[in-house]
This record gives sequence, C-alpha cells and structure tokens, in this order.
Amino acid sequence: MRLILLGPPGAGKGTQAQRLVARYGLVQLSTGDMLRAAVAAGTPVGLKAKDLMAQGALVPDEVVCAIIADRIAEPDAHNGFILDGFPRTVGQAEALDAMLKDRKLGLDAVIALKVDEDALLARVEKRVAEMAARGEAVRADDNAEALKKRLDAYRAQTAPLIDYYGGKGTLSVIDGMAAIDAVERAILAILKGKTGKPASGKAKPASKPGKKAAKVAKRAGKRTKAAKKVKKTKKSTVAKAAKAKSAGRAIGTRKGGRKADSKGTRKAVSARRSVAKKRAGTARRTAKKTAKRKSGRR
Ligand code: ADP
Repeated sequence: MRLILLGPPGAGKGTQAQRLVARYGLVQLSTGDMLRAAVAAGTPVGLKAKDLMAQGALVPDEVVCAIIADRIAEPDAHNGFILDGFPRTVGQAEALDAMLKDRKLGLDAVIALKVDEDALLARVEKRVAEMAARGEAVRADDNAEALKKRLDAYRAQTAPLIDYYGGKGTLSVIDGMAAIDAVERAILAILKGKTGKPASGKAKPASKPGKKAAKVAKRAGKRTKAAKKVKKTKKSTVAKAAKAKSAGRAIGTRKGGRKADSKGTRKAVSARRSVAKKRAGTARRTAKKTAKRKSGRR
C-alpha cells in the first residue's frame, strides 16, 4: 500500500503515520525527519537544508526528490510506504508520479487532514512543551515566527496539491480537528474502501468454525467455540451413522427421493426388523423340517 498524508504543519500527519506503520507494516517516509537527520549528521544535504528549515522555508525540490527516490528504492519500502511531508509542491508531486511510473507503481490514497489554522499554533506549542518535558531537543522551527513562515509556505506551495490530487480522483479529505482515534478510524475506513484490506493489527473478522481452527485450538489445549462445534458435529455424525447402520442404509441416503427424517428412519428400522424377524422364523422352521426329514430317512 502506498499513500500520502497531506496537511499543514501540526495537522497530525506524523501521529497518524506512526499508527498506520504499526497496523499495516508500512514504512513512514518523512522528509522532515530525513532532513533533520541529515542536518544532525552534517551531510552535504544537511548543510543545504539547515538554514532554510530553521527559517520555516522549503528545501529545494531537487534535494528532497533525490532523497525520496533513493528511499523508495530500498527493500523495506517494497511492502508499501506512507509519505509524510512529501510531496510539498506540485513539482515534487510530478516528480513522484514519474518515480512511481518508472517502477510501475501507483498510489492507493492521498489523504488530506483539514485543520483550522487557529488550532495549529496551539498544537505546535503543545508539542514543544511535551518534547521539552521529555528532555528532547526542541525543533529549530517550532517557534511562532518560523511556524508563521511554514504556514505561508503551506498555503502558497502545498495547498495546491489538494487540487492536483483532487483532479486525479485519488484524494480524500478528512476532519483533522477530530480526536486522534477518530481521525485514525476515518483513515482506516478510506484505506479499507480503496484496498479492501482490513488493518492487520486488528483481529480479523471471525472465520467460520472449521476443522483447521479446531485442530489449532486442540494443539493449543483450548476448547474454543470452533473446537466445540466440530466436536458436536462429530458426535452427531457418529450417532447418525449408528442409526443409519441399524436401519441398514448408508448415512445421507434418501428414502423415496426425500431425505429420511427421524420419523421415517424409525419406521424403516421397525419395518426392516419385522422383515428380518419373519425371515429368521421361516429359516428356523425350514431348518427344523429339513433336519426332521433327514433323520427320518436315516
Ligand atoms: P511540519 O509538517 O511540521 O512543518 P516537517 O517535519 O514535515 O514539519 O518539515 C520540517 C521542515 O523540513 C519544513 O519546514 C521544510 O523546511 C523541510 N521539508 C520537509 N519536507 C519537505 C519537502 N517535501 N520539501 C521541502 N522542504 C521540506
């Protein structure tokens, strides 16, 4: 599965991406995280990105596109990925289309989180406070001034992607102001509709109780519903077979074109028994007569 999470800074893309990673076993490709790692490691990419990021401006398209092209070629991305923070411009979206086309891949969904701008500053402030409380380094761009620039960049360069993907029919817009769990449920519903796959982290829909399930349960020493049902079925099958045997017919055979009901079976049993009795009586009498005749001859 390949999907894009779109939304302004503080919309909750990272939070939702992490939940999807856990559920679907996808990799989260966050260009923000990758660039921060490059800055921390002092790589050539990091050196180019450092000041732009701190100001809240975007890093040039060719830099981020090169990072993403390398990253999606790695083996762990073959199972699918969530793009978080990329693409951020129409140029990046076009470059992504070309990358995917080269690999004969497509996008399953583009999900935009719609959030009130007034709420974003409060969210970012909360994140800063939480990170500081955990003793983590606060992001260089998580301050009111840089956030304003990030929002400007979002409006001017990233928001046009809503139309870009809307025109392609891949876009779904959801309410990013809802509680985290509710946003997650909305995303899962979209993904289920697009891919037909339920989230793997959740219990699968109960399958019909079958022999296999019962065997597994037996091995585990458990008596599950499935195990009980199979045992019950076995018992009733054995009972039916015994009944059918005494009635002199194979189980499941039809009597007069109709499946024998219990009444029919009882009738058949008594009829057969009386025939058998009569035959036994006749045979006994015949045997006696023959024996008499033989002894008279002697
Ligand atoms: P947020 O979504 O909270 O703004 P990110 O971690 O996604 O934060 O990005 C932080 C910064 O990294 C951005 O403000 C920008 O400078 C840079 N950046 C991240 N992704 C991209 C991208 N796709 N294109 C250009 N710059 C990017």
